Order: sequence, then C-alpha cells, then structure tokens
Amino acid sequence: MNTSEIIETGQKYVMNTYGRLPMALIKGQGVHVWDADGNKYLDFVAGLAVNSLGHCHPAVVEAIREQAGTLLHVSNIYWIEPQVKLAQVLIENSALDKVFFCNSGAEANEGAIKLARKYAKKYMGPDKFEIITMHQSFHGRTLAAITATAQPKYQKDLDPLPQGFKYVPFNDFAALEEAITENTCAVMMEPIQGEGGVNTADYEYMQKVKQLCVDQNLLLIFDEVQCGLARTGKLFAYEHYGVEPDIMSLAKAIAGGFPMGALLAKQKVAECFQPGDHASTFGGNPLAAAAGYAAVSILADKEFLKDVTEKGLYFEQKLQDLKSKFSFITDVRGKGLMLGLGVTVEAKPIVDSCLSKGLLINAVAVNVLRFIPPLIISKEDIDEAVNILEDIMSQIN
Ligand SMILES: *Cc1c(COP(=O)(O)O)cnc(C)c1O
Repeated sequence: MNTSEIIETGQKYVMNTYGRLPMALIKGQGVHVWDADGNKYLDFVAGLAVNSLGHCHPAVVEAIREQAGTLLHVSNIYWIEPQVKLAQVLIENSALDKVFFCNSGAEANEGAIKLARKYAKKYMGPDKFEIITMHQSFHGRTLAAITATAQPKYQKDLDPLPQGFKYVPFNDFAALEEAITENTCAVMMEPIQGEGGVNTADYEYMQKVKQLCVDQNLLLIFDEVQCGLARTGKLFAYEHYGVEPDIMSLAKAIAGGFPMGALLAKQKVAECFQPGDHASTFGGNPLAAAAGYAAVSILADKEFLKDVTEKGLYFEQKLQDLKSKFSFITDVRGKGLMLGLGVTVEAKPIVDSCLSKGLLINAVAVNVLRFIPPLIISKEDIDEAVNILEDIMSQIN
C-alpha cells in the first residue's frame, strides 16, 4: 500500500483516537525510519521512548526469532524460563525485590495501585486508600490510571472515576505535606514527567518526599514507564536521587519494541499479592519475556549507561547553545536522553518543519519540544538534529 491507501483504509476502519500525522512508517533500522513513499527520517521520537535500542536491534530481533520458533505462549499457571531470566536481571539491577509482568504502562500502574491498596489494608488499616499524585503527571489510559493522571483534559466525560486519588502541584513539598490525610496510603509520581512536559523532580524535593513517606508510613510509587530503563543515563531515574521507591512501574523500552510492562516492589509490599490476587493472561509470556531479556541485558550494561550519560550531556549542551541563540527558548529540561526545550512560540509548526526536513520530534504539554531518541544514537546524529532545529528556528526569529 502507498501512504494514501494506508491512510484511507485506516480512516475507514480504525477508531479515531490519535491525532496522527499524514504519514505511515513501514521500516526502521537503528536511528532511522522510512515511510511508505520511501522517505527516510532521523527518529528522535523512538516510538515514544520505546525504541531505546533503535529500530530492529539485532539482539532483540534474534531473541524474538528464536523464541517464536520455540514457544510463543503458555499460561502463567506454569513457570516460564525467559520470564524468570528477565525477572532476575531486573531485580539484580534494581532496589526492588520482586516483579510482576504485564503488557503496558497503564496495566503496570493499575497493578501498582492495587498493590498499594492491598498493602494499606494489611498494614495501615481499613481507611487507608488514598493515593496522592502530581499535576501534569501521566500514568496511562485505563480508568484507574487516568484518574491517577492529574490532567483534567484526559478525564473529561469519563465519570464516575474511581475514588481515592488526590492531586498536588509537582515539586511543591508544602502542598504535598498539606494534602496528606488519615486516608492517605501512597504518593505516586514520575521522577521525570514525560507527557506532562519533561519536568524533572528537584533533588531536594525528592529527598523530602522520601523522608515524608518514611515518617508518615506511606508507600512511594515511582512511575518509571518513560524515564526508566537507561533513558536518563541511569538504569532507573531514582538512582539520580539516591531515593528508593517501594513500588515501581516500567514499560515502554523494556522489551526493545515488543509490548510489555512490569511492576516491581520491595519484598514486604510484593508479598501482599498472593495467588489469585492479580493476573494477566499475556503478562510475561515467553515471546515478550525473551525480547525483554535481550533488551534489558543491554540497557543494564555499565558501559552502555556511561555512553548514554555522555551523549545526553553533549546533546544538552547543544540545546543550551540553541537557547543562547533564540530568545523564544525559555529553558532546557530533562536528563540524559530525555530532554526538552520550553518555547514561547507554538511548538507544533516547529515539529512539522522538522518532519519536512527529515527529523522526527514531538511536542508535549503546550509548548515543549521533546527529544527521546534511541539511546544508540551517535554524536553525529545529534549534530544533524540540532542543525535542522537551528535552521528552522532561525526562520522564526
Ligand atoms: C506512556 C506512559 C504510561 C502509559 O503506558 P501505556 O503503555 O501507554 O499504557 C504511563 N506512565 C508514563 C510515565 C508514560 O510515559
């Protein structure tokens, strides 16, 4: 099919839930993708932080090929070798003790919410159920996850929403302290908010949040669906703060492009799920887990992480240089290769101009350009992207 055939068929048969660009991508290799008309693009969207190893990473492709010809799926009523191998590498490289596998970020957060409530009922008392989340957060699209997501635009007309959530401004410790009641059981947050605008939690704030949770006996839940798994130069974003969560959700990059999510927890918390309490038919199935094991084995590598940090600093400096050239750039945000540029002009025309010059980026919040390239990107690729941006921005000034 060519581009217009794909779009026409899609418009006829697929629900209209995405503000899609008028293009169809049909091939990817490393940091590049190609559309159905043969145009090549440098990909700084990376499937929304999913393709951290680039497109069609040979280790992931080989693991999927091999597993697909051996065993695609069996139920979790049996032990699954690739699943336990992936569990081992995640746990041995994190501060958490046990993992539950599912299929998406929303499902991981749904599990996190259920687990927090189970823990609260067991250890805190019958009236402890409330979870405090942050303005501009994003936790996914299931009913509980979208209720945890403190952005009214996503909740419109979905009422009645599940109860037990309360929202506070991000990076505002006094507001959080104020919001805690006798019903509070947990604080849930992204260490670096993605969809909400690449907003980084302040170091001091994070220390205080952790201390508050310890003092008040609250669970701390980190949603690392986007910022986790090497994206910021550490395997997990919490490592930047020296603050450990009790529960953590992962997804996006976990299986190198294959759909998968995971929920990790400290031992005492994890034990609150007993047989029958939580399940997922596909969660951690052999194919997804084999892809995940291949991907996480690379993402957790110390040299790989060092390389991400170095390239992140290089990219960040290049963005700072842009900021000093263009007065409509307000700030450079983020960490590692999860970066953003705040702008006072409209972000969408910049995104469109980048596209026409062969660079894929996207905009989040209202006016933030977000850059989440594959972590395997080279400095030359970063230079190429920055040159395109500079070219476009100089036409705006
Ligand atoms: C993408 C995202 C989710 C939702 O993940 P899905 O796989 O789309 O359900 C949740 N939390 C964060 C931080 C995300 O970036």
